[in-house]
Amino acid sequence: MVVVLLGLPGAGKGTQAARLAERLGLAHVASGDLFREALAEGTPLGLQAQAYMERGDLVPDEIVVRMVLERIGRPDCAGGVVLDGFPRTSAQAEALDTALAAGGRAVTAVLKVVVPDPVVLERLTGRRVCRNCQAPYHVRFRPPAREGVCDLCGGELYQREDDREETVRRRIEVYREQTAPLEAYYRERGLLREVDGNGSVDMVTERLLQALEAA
Ligand code: AMP
Repeated sequence: MVVVLLGLPGAGKGTQAARLAERLGLAHVASGDLFREALAEGTPLGLQAQAYMERGDLVPDEIVVRMVLERIGRPDCAGGVVLDGFPRTSAQAEALDTALAAGGRAVTAVLKVVVPDPVVLERLTGRRVCRNCQAPYHVRFRPPAREGVCDLCGGELYQREDDREETVRRRIEVYREQTAPLEAYYRERGLLREVDGNGSVDMVTERLLQALEAA
């Protein structure tokens, strides 16, 4: 089973992809996390991606495609995978289809998590992440017990460079320009399901699972 999650940055794809993967026994592959890990390790891949990420622009297709296809070719993905943040352009979607077809597989379902712009703006600009263990917080919706300090490990909380308001606006624009056309690509293939991303995390997970059952 190969499940693709679509939706604006901040729609909750990361949180939901992790939960779906756990409930369904699938691997979770998040292209943004792969880039952030590469950057933290200072690898050439991370350094190549850094400037694009900080501007809120997309990393060039050939870099992303090579990285993600290598990742989903690993044994832990053999039983299926939830893709989060990939594909983000039509060229990426085509490369994914070709690679899956070569292994006798195909995208099973594409779930779009729908959340209005003002909601994603507030979610992302208020987001803080632990520098040490990556645990997510929000200044309003999920504040830590002590400001700026991770409840779990005592690490320092910081704002991702690409969560600054200007960059978030740019990321939304990039989604509209480059990723929204993918919705048509998958709709034409009968794979796209839209799911309301408002409400509690649990509610949204249940809606996604229902949409998958109906797929
Ligand atoms: P995310 O955490 O999914 O919002 O990704 C953070 C950043 O990583 C994006 O703003 C892009 O710069 C880059 N990135 C992640 N996935 C992709 C992708 N599929 N194609 C191009 N760039 C990507």
